Amino acid sequence: MKKNPLLQSNHLPCFDLVKAVHIKPAVKQVLRDCKKRLRTLLKQPYPDFNNFIIPYMHIVDDISYVWGVVEHLNAVKNTPAIRKAYTRIQSRYINFMVKLKQNRHFYRIFSDIKKKFTLEPVQQKVIDDALLQFKLSGTALGKKRKSKFRRCQKQLSAWQNKFQNNVLDAVKNYTLTVNDPEPLKELPEHVLKAAHHLAVNNAKAGPGSRVWQFTLDIPSFLPFMKFCTDPALREKLYRAYVTRAASGKIDNTEIISKILKVRQQQAELLGFANYAVFSLQDKMAADPDRVNAFLDELFNKSAARAWQDAGELNDFKQKTGGKGPVKAWDLLFYREKLRLEKYAINEKVLRQYFSLDQVLSGLFDIIEKLFGHTLKKSRAAVWHQDVLFYVLYNDNQEESGYIYFDLYSRPDKRSGAWMDVCRSRRFRGKKIFLPAAYLNCNFTAPAADQPVLLTFNEVVTLFHEMGHVLNHVLTRIDYPAVSGLEGIPWDGIELASQLLENWAYEKEVLDKFAFHYQTREPLPPELVKGLKAGKTFFSGYDMLRQLLFSKIDMDLHYIHKGKADESPAEFIKKIRDKMEVIPSPPENRFENSFLHIFSGGYAAGYYSYKWAEVLAADAFSLFKQNGLWDRKTGKRFLDLLLSKGGSEDYYQMFIDFRGRPPDREALLRQYGIIK
Ligand code: ZN
Repeated sequence: MKKNPLLQSNHLPCFDLVKAVHIKPAVKQVLRDCKKRLRTLLKQPYPDFNNFIIPYMHIVDDISYVWGVVEHLNAVKNTPAIRKAYTRIQSRYINFMVKLKQNRHFYRIFSDIKKKFTLEPVQQKVIDDALLQFKLSGTALGKKRKSKFRRCQKQLSAWQNKFQNNVLDAVKNYTLTVNDPEPLKELPEHVLKAAHHLAVNNAKAGPGSRVWQFTLDIPSFLPFMKFCTDPALREKLYRAYVTRAASGKIDNTEIISKILKVRQQQAELLGFANYAVFSLQDKMAADPDRVNAFLDELFNKSAARAWQDAGELNDFKQKTGGKGPVKAWDLLFYREKLRLEKYAINEKVLRQYFSLDQVLSGLFDIIEKLFGHTLKKSRAAVWHQDVLFYVLYNDNQEESGYIYFDLYSRPDKRSGAWMDVCRSRRFRGKKIFLPAAYLNCNFTAPAADQPVLLTFNEVVTLFHEMGHVLNHVLTRIDYPAVSGLEGIPWDGIELASQLLENWAYEKEVLDKFAFHYQTREPLPPELVKGLKAGKTFFSGYDMLRQLLFSKIDMDLHYIHKGKADESPAEFIKKIRDKMEVIPSPPENRFENSFLHIFSGGYAAGYYSYKWAEVLAADAFSLFKQNGLWDRKTGKRFLDLLLSKGGSEDYYQMFIDFRGRPPDREALLRQYGIIK
């Protein structure tokens, strides 16, 4: 029998050979093999770091690698067959991993090794992280409670997967058909083309006819909300968007309650008062009260500015002939027009200066100048013909990592932008496995005769995800448990990504890569200025919106906890009433598609964006001080933070880099909220 392609793991995944039928047998087999290897490992008579913990890490890494590929395919190629295979095997994987972390023998040996040997700090960190994870998986519980904890974990994973599939299906099942070109006349040409193309594909129209279809996918939804001149149509699409997966057959309402309840049960099983306390055990912020104080401080300092932003938009609407206050579905429309008036930022014009090729080369240039690494396009097996593959080289021209770029939106791909680990850096014997990462976005796929042009927001998104990727592939740590992104506390993960975003706004950087795709003219100085100034535009509103999401997440897990007497929707409504400066309609059920906390890893952790953004703003201020291209500061960041992954205490790593604890007001200054 031929070897299952998911298990051929010498170099990189054989994406060209992997099919849905391989998923179940591969996962089963890797779990079976690893179980045997773990059993043998337990027989080790004199366990120490080298003969016990390193092999343990490698076994876990072997499982993570195969499972990571399966998870990635489920997210980017969610065909009915892959979805089915994934759903069927998921609980077996979860069960195995939780059981492993509940295993008292391993826990005891890890503790013994910690006590008995003098270890290097990085080895200590490996052990401390593992011991904490053992504890948080219920290793100390009795047999019955252990199995209850596992049941909770399996239920959670199944519901989280269902939650994500529901959102995907809700988006896939909805289209808004428009027959009148009049309200669409301000929409960008490429969006109209795609909308017409969709109508033709869905057999709603002939090739030359005047019919357009819009979807809830961001590349279609956002420009429609920004540029459609008919408020009634905007309201229709907006309402569909904020009620995704909120009614009928595709409804996440019940799932939300179930997830909250089970998370609370899990926390209680381990002796924590609630899931927020549980979730914060392995995060920098450590305690929910500290998170709440942090969120409150930002709220108190930004609220006045947010009300001012909303007031300005209301005035602008009246001034330009609109009736009544700004509604939720007016927000993006008037905001775009006001931005144009104030800063001359015209998204349609801007796009022409951001062809994907140039943006990528600008980004690679930053990486080379600051961190001394270069990227070269290469070939590898991929899951879709549009996926790009790059090899990373260090300053000695040696290969040091790999990156897959999957940039375009597809119906069977999860929405949004995200980065994922493909492989962690590690040694096996004398052979090194280099780190590999996936960078996924949902840009509009190019028409056959056109170059890919990005909106400025998409440029910033690309920079953001690249920051995550660098954090993973620039690692120099060889223990997979703390290499790259592994072992970094969740509220530190968004530091590198949000830091890199800053370069996209700077003149010296834009001058190097923002050229008109046809004329090659550089981005006009007034646009560059506008982009920079526009960064603080509506920043009070944006800050409050992020704080609202953080607060909803925190309060659901800290206060609501899945209780039966008040629905999460009613509970959330009260938070909204306090924090929204432009009220959303009562039917808004945003939480039903809040993937971050109900299917991603951000539960009682959404605040991490803001927490890490403070660090990022403070880190960037050092680059501003020393120069955006300052190799010394870049090297310092690489040596003291980026390359160390999760191998040391993250907060201390930041202090080492910055030379002092973080300045809490750096972010408010960057947003122009305080001077
Ligand atoms: Zn991110």
